[in-house]
Amino acid sequence: MQVSPLDWERTAAEAAELLSAYIQINTVNPPGNETEGARFLQDILKRNGIGSEIIESKPGRGSLVSGCTAGAVPEIMLLHHIDVVQAEAGRWQVEPFSGCVRNGELWGRGALDCKGLGIIELMAFLLLKRQGLDPERRIVYAATADEEAGGAWGVPWLLQHHPEKFQTRYVINEGVGWGLRTGSRNVYLCQVAEKGSCWLKITFEGRPGHGSIPHDENCVLHMARAMQVLGNHRFGLQCAAPVRLLMEALAREQEYMRPEQFLGLMDPACSCATFDLIADAPMREMLGALLTNTMVPTVAQAGKKTNVIPSECFCEVDARILPGTTPEELTSLIERLLTDAGCRGFTVELPGGSRASESSMDTELYRVLGDTIEQHDPRGMLLPYLSPGATDSRFFRERGVVAYGMQFDASIESNRLIHGHDERISLRHLLFGIQVLYDTLRRFLV
Ligand SMILES: [Zn+2]
Repeated sequence: MQVSPLDWERTAAEAAELLSAYIQINTVNPPGNETEGARFLQDILKRNGIGSEIIESKPGRGSLVSGCTAGAVPEIMLLHHIDVVQAEAGRWQVEPFSGCVRNGELWGRGALDCKGLGIIELMAFLLLKRQGLDPERRIVYAATADEEAGGAWGVPWLLQHHPEKFQTRYVINEGVGWGLRTGSRNVYLCQVAEKGSCWLKITFEGRPGHGSIPHDENCVLHMARAMQVLGNHRFGLQCAAPVRLLMEALAREQEYMRPEQFLGLMDPACSCATFDLIADAPMREMLGALLTNTMVPTVAQAGKKTNVIPSECFCEVDARILPGTTPEELTSLIERLLTDAGCRGFTVELPGGSRASESSMDTELYRVLGDTIEQHDPRGMLLPYLSPGATDSRFFRERGVVAYGMQFDASIESNRLIHGHDERISLRHLLFGIQVLYDTLRRFLV
């Protein structure tokens, strides 16, 4: 089918205008208020002749789904979440919900995570429609609630209550990745796997008493010891398949050390001294998180009064596990470590642990994304990535759907801005994302 050439300058301006307006809708979760964001997207789709539906899991907690009403299982779902994390306005250089443009970048909470992706996906969808390619035949556009607070009122709820509307072969979702410029290449990462997350609560019971009379059944001391033990524990190196591919490609491109030495980072016998050769701290920390399970104590709550030894206290630990470790194995390990360290009176609870999830890279969509990126950026390359953090992709992978997390930005800086101050997206990358996605989707519509 013959289609007319696209006006990319106009597309870029339209995308910036839409993203700015989308950022101005405050969807900080909690409370989320995603229905307002969903209505905003619904209006745009409607103006372009595309129908959609808003489904609320609770009042105000709306998700939008558009396309593929024909009955056949759609090919690709374009997914992003409407909610954002809070912003400490006083620490930003601009008002976090202004959506203003400065020096070629669009600023505001959600610019990267992940209203920017929502607009990239929307624009690609609209352009296909305007070109007469009827994207609704094979593609679903979905904007969902409650990702940032664990997702209970978003994707898992929708999959449980409206499974028929969320069927698909592939999902393109946020990546929580980072891009990097290394050697002569711009590396774009496709999140094909993510670690499982285990949020543990450890309660300590002891003998209460007066603060003036010390004794060794003080639960606060046992908790303090436990936090030290868990925080200092180092897991062995473990290299998941996508991480191995990433490391092999990076070994050729990186300039921190000799390529053989870089590959040695995957060897379980590798020493911390080799890791220390990576001068770039964010890169060093990120690689460390990709190659091991991790466990970080984050919350502690003990007594309320200085002169009272409490009878109970608790701490919480954020643990992230690679493929091959189960939440149950982690819990047993923690119990063993604490017992060996002499901690007493504790119970370990795991309210909702998830295993790591992974999608195959051996798919048509992965190949098309890789080819398209190279067409648009001659120095670009697509590499697989396992993210330490979780996304809604895991709920689709559990159901056998191939889910990829994309970030169309080959700069490591963008990763530091996600959930941080001064979040912003470069307008160049916003357009790049639309172009790559538009061309990728077209290959699935012909
Ligand atoms: Zn996100």
